[in-house]
Order: sequence, then structure tokens, then C-alpha cells
Amino acid sequence: MLVDSHCHFHLLEDHADTDAALAAAKTDGVEHFLNVAVDVENRDALIALAERYPEISTSIGVHPSGTGEDPEPDVLAALADHPRIVAIGESGLDYAYNQDQPAWQRERFRRHVRAAHLAGKPIIVHTRAAPEDTVTILREEHAREVGGIIHCFTEDWPTARALLDEGFYISLSGILTFRNADALRETAARIPLDRLLIETDCPYLAPVPHRGKENQPAWVRHVAECLAEVRGVPFETVAEATTENFYQLFPQTRAAA
Ligand SMILES: [Zn+2]
Ligand SMILES: [Zn+2]
Repeated sequence: MLVDSHCHFHLLEDHADTDAALAAAKTDGVEHFLNVAVDVENRDALIALAERYPEISTSIGVHPSGTGEDPEPDVLAALADHPRIVAIGESGLDYAYNQDQPAWQRERFRRHVRAAHLAGKPIIVHTRAAPEDTVTILREEHAREVGGIIHCFTEDWPTARALLDEGFYISLSGILTFRNADALRETAARIPLDRLLIETDCPYLAPVPHRGKENQPAWVRHVAECLAEVRGVPFETVAEATTENFYQLFPQTRAAA
């Protein structure tokens, strides 16, 4: 069985039809989903979805490109105080998409790591074109003590090594299947299997052979297939390892599967 470690059910076009998306995903062997927040305004809706479907866990945080409310760490930690909220995030740095506010991004990222400490929950990190600052902030804020996921990883091997050294899991998305992603596939082959996760980040980043369409949680299977090929191991090896890694990080979600 597979776990989609990072998806956005609430951003899917026909998000009202979660039953259909879940049924399709289950047919493809996906048993659990971490539905990740990009803002705090949608907290109630995310919790409602997680309460309705035991196989969907959720998080709370503000995406680095977010423009909405930005709570202080203690407020964010209080918002995370719900049994179906298993993580803080997504949070982090995106210097590729959002180049005009790097100082504020760094401050907000630090707030999220502090909130993760207060809440005692792992953090989901979004990082794009900001490898040094990401590692520095995680180190300075002692993020190792809370742990978490570097989601949709696209950086190089030295960055992966540094993030692994901080105790983080590394999650690969459909980008792994893209034609021009040879460098990422080489890096993915070097990351220890007991530190890898897989995700869709749907509705974004549909994998080959679905590029150009709205990504679906079921398609995490293509990421697993690609990862198995890259590492030269059976599909089941990747499926078992990435699923077990997820439950190690979020033991409370295992019972729901
Ligand atoms: Zn992200
Ligand atoms: Zn995301």
C-alpha cells in the first residue's frame, strides 16, 4: 500500500467529490493521505474533511507564497491543537516564485518552526531555490527536535545530505518522472530508503503520463514506480518503505489506515 505524504484535496477542481478521488486512489493502492494546509483561514474545512475520512490527516500553516493571516508561534501552535492535525505547514522559503519578500519569508519560516516546537508536531517544509537559507534556519531553530518532511524535493545531493543530517525525511513528487529530471533521479537514488517519502502535491505537478492534467491523489503510484526504477528495486520495496516511513513520523495515522 502507498501513502500520499502531501496533497491538497481542498484545491482539487471537483473537491466536493472526495469520495470519487478516494475511491480512485484506493483502487491504485493508496491508503492514507496528508492533506496539507496552505493558509490558516481554511482550518475548519480541513478538519471537517479529516473528521469525515479517517484516511485523510491534515496540517496547519501558511505557504511561503501565502498572503493571508500570519499567526504568531503560540497562536499557530494553539491552532494545531486538534487530534486530526498531525503537522505544522506547509511552510518554508520559495525564492523562485516569490522573490520580493525573502526577509519576511525567513521570519515566517522561523515562526513555523517555533510553533512546531510548541505544538510538539513535525513540520512540512516547502523549499525552492533557497537551499542554504533553508538548512540554516532549520539548524538554528533546532528543527531536528521536531522533525518533519522536506516536501517536493528538487535540490541537489549536497542539500539532500544536509537536510538528512538535520533529521528530515525527503519527499519526492511527480517531478521525479519529468523528462528533464535526470539530476533529481540521480539524487533520489542516493537518499537512504528509510528516509524517503512520496507525494503528489495535487492538484499540481501531475506525473508522467498525465502531465498537463489536474494531478490526482491516485497518481502517487507513478512516483513510486519511477522511484523503484531509479533505484533498481521492486515496486513493493518502495511502497513498503515509504509507507512505513510515513507511519514512523506520524504514528497516530497508522491506526486510521
Ligand atoms: Zn509546497
Ligand atoms: Zn503543497
